[in-house]
Amino acid sequence: MSLKNQKHYTIPVFIPELACPFQCVFCDQRKISGHQESPLPEEVRRTIEDHLSTIPYEESYVEIGFFGGNFTGIPASMQESYLSVAVEYLKRGIIKGIRLSTRPDYISPEKLKMLKAYGVSCIELGAQSLDEDVLRLSGRGHKLEDIVRASRLIRQEGFSLGLQMMLGLPGDSPEKALLTARKIVDLGADNTRIYPTLVIKGTKLEQMYLKGKYRPLELNEAVCQARAVAEIFEAAGVNIIRMGLHPSEGLISGEYLVAGPYHVSFRELVQTEIWNAILKPLASGSGKVITISVAPCELNAAVGYNARNKKELLQSFQKVRFISDPLLKGRQFIADYN
Ligand code: SF4
Repeated sequence: MSLKNQKHYTIPVFIPELACPFQCVFCDQRKISGHQESPLPEEVRRTIEDHLSTIPYEESYVEIGFFGGNFTGIPASMQESYLSVAVEYLKRGIIKGIRLSTRPDYISPEKLKMLKAYGVSCIELGAQSLDEDVLRLSGRGHKLEDIVRASRLIRQEGFSLGLQMMLGLPGDSPEKALLTARKIVDLGADNTRIYPTLVIKGTKLEQMYLKGKYRPLELNEAVCQARAVAEIFEAAGVNIIRMGLHPSEGLISGEYLVAGPYHVSFRELVQTEIWNAILKPLASGSGKVITISVAPCELNAAVGYNARNKKELLQSFQKVRFISDPLLKGRQFIADYN
């Protein structure tokens, strides 16, 4: 089976923020990820085995991902104990790659050398914003130049580069979000994740929010901004791995969430918005019935979350049909009016 047709799985191993020297205003990793303690290496092995038991790994592209904190900030011996578990699976050909997320100011040639020796293939940096003021107001504790320097080093050493960004941080604006996305492209990112900022219980952002010093984005603002940056990434071929936070139990129940644009299907909302802009001009076409053919993988997004796009077209037509056409690619479509 070709790589392109293989289903992609990342086995997630969460290492909470124990290693973080700073406290970003928005962050409480333990609440966001739903994981409270750093795992022992045996627990990492168990997590990997549990996932492998549910994945058809012989036919899939499987990676192990260390997420959630500042991986390269934990003691080198601890990094190596985690990586030595992962690399066993790499050597046995069970997984195809190891990825991790970390802070931009914890990347150095020495650290990269060690990661390479353990077969790490992709490093994701929590860049969050490429605006100096937003970084400062968010308490990131590093500067823009740290992101630029780390990105260059990672690329030079031949790793795949991920640059994650957030929307609606303190001091952010729609214009700054677009600039951040363009800079992420310019820095040569291969992949990205887009997270709308949420106000989580117990964070500094909660205090700012309660004192009226921070206003979170409305859900529709977050969706519009995510759509605009997603279009920049798509045009540049940057793979968007994720949009919106992974739904941990505390987020779904609302236990940890104070305010902000959280939605379990955030990515679907953004994809609906992208299709909505594409389909809007069709409403002016003449006829009673409209049939729109789209690529099979785009059918749900074209119809829209809660059939939003279909419902909007029904205001102009008596009948709206969406059908899938395997000859169409990406967001190509054909509209027929009767
Ligand atoms: S660097 Fe990452 S894990 Fe650490 S406090 Fe900031 S957001 Fe949280």
